[in-house]
Amino acid sequence: MSLEDFLIQTGREMIRLSKSCIGVTEKNRVLGVLDREYLGMGDEVKEFEDNLSGFFGRRVACVVNGTAALHLALQGAGVEPGDEVLVQSLTYVASFQAITAAGAKPVPCDVSSATVTIDLDDAKRRLTSKTKAVMPVHYTGGIGNLDDVNAFAREKGLRVIEDAAHAFGTRDDKGQLVGSFGDVACFSFDGIKNITSGEGGCVVAHDKEVLEQVRNARLLGVEKDTERRFQSGRSWEFDVVRQGWRFHMSNIMAAIGIEQLKRFPKLAAKRQTLAKRYVQRLDSCPWVELLDIDFDRVVPHIFVVKLRRGGKEGFQKSMAKVGVQTGSHYLPNHLLTFFKDSAEFPATMEVFPRLVSLPLHPDLSAGDVDFVCDQLYSVLKDA
Ligand SMILES: *Cc1c(COP(=O)(O)O)cnc(C)c1O
Repeated sequence: MSLEDFLIQTGREMIRLSKSCIGVTEKNRVLGVLDREYLGMGDEVKEFEDNLSGFFGRRVACVVNGTAALHLALQGAGVEPGDEVLVQSLTYVASFQAITAAGAKPVPCDVSSATVTIDLDDAKRRLTSKTKAVMPVHYTGGIGNLDDVNAFAREKGLRVIEDAAHAFGTRDDKGQLVGSFGDVACFSFDGIKNITSGEGGCVVAHDKEVLEQVRNARLLGVEKDTERRFQSGRSWEFDVVRQGWRFHMSNIMAAIGIEQLKRFPKLAAKRQTLAKRYVQRLDSCPWVELLDIDFDRVVPHIFVVKLRRGGKEGFQKSMAKVGVQTGSHYLPNHLLTFFKDSAEFPATMEVFPRLVSLPLHPDLSAGDVDFVCDQLYSVLKDA
């Protein structure tokens, strides 16, 4: 049922699965950019990048979306046509498309069901002489056994390109921010992620060379164009030594991002508070199983449960009828025609039919979460 249909039929709003949360400061900042009439990549993008660099304590390059961040990060880290990249099958199709966009082959791996992050033992079995990188996906915001993945990659000489699209603000068990340690991390700022810049994304890297290549590749490979544009100029004489793309961020987007980053502590705390409320209400529910995630460290992008009874489709329909929008993250990529792979993925195939996402965004109240949980109990009681 659509949001509109539900409103017309019942006279009340559906509880939305996710949404953008835009305040007056974001709106004003965008108006400022429009007034100045410099809409492309300039002052705001530089400011947003500088602020993100301060946040992570590392170099940052902003790009047009999270998929482009992954694509350029792979390219910048030296992943080339013919190379293989280990990645969990159960992820947003963006992870896979970014790998093929860089000319490489995504090699699907199984997940650990407790966290729905890459099963490292399975990944080790799929290692070949062509493996160049591993892409751990921080599903819902949790990082699983990222330390082990990093250690494995170091041992085998692989690059690690983290798909951290869900994990902006998450910390590991030592209190380090995702993106502030490790090899390369990519974030998405699409409308419903932990912070947004409309669309948008960024690459955070330790390696200066990777960042430099991303900065060039996002502007058609024109060397040093970033520096010129940040001085309101542009390059009329230049060289191009590699394939590039039009993947830079605009000032309009960065204007939103700058203000979202300022509000991030509050947005993050709200997401964590709501997630903890779900845990409190659902921990002892016999009909669902929760992921193994510590919401003191993780800033969740989505809140996922594993159903223990009833089908996912029926559950989603019943929840929609009572005004609760739910989601299904994700269809495993090895089932898609373009990425078909006939290997066995037992944990993935066991868990994906049971994964359901419940509403989570900063404009929800604790009362909304209680309502969702009440509805979940009454739907599953009869399932
Ligand atoms: C959102 C997302 C991306 C891609 O980000 P876009 O900004 O939408 O291109 C990549 N991976 C995962 C897991 C995502 O959720």
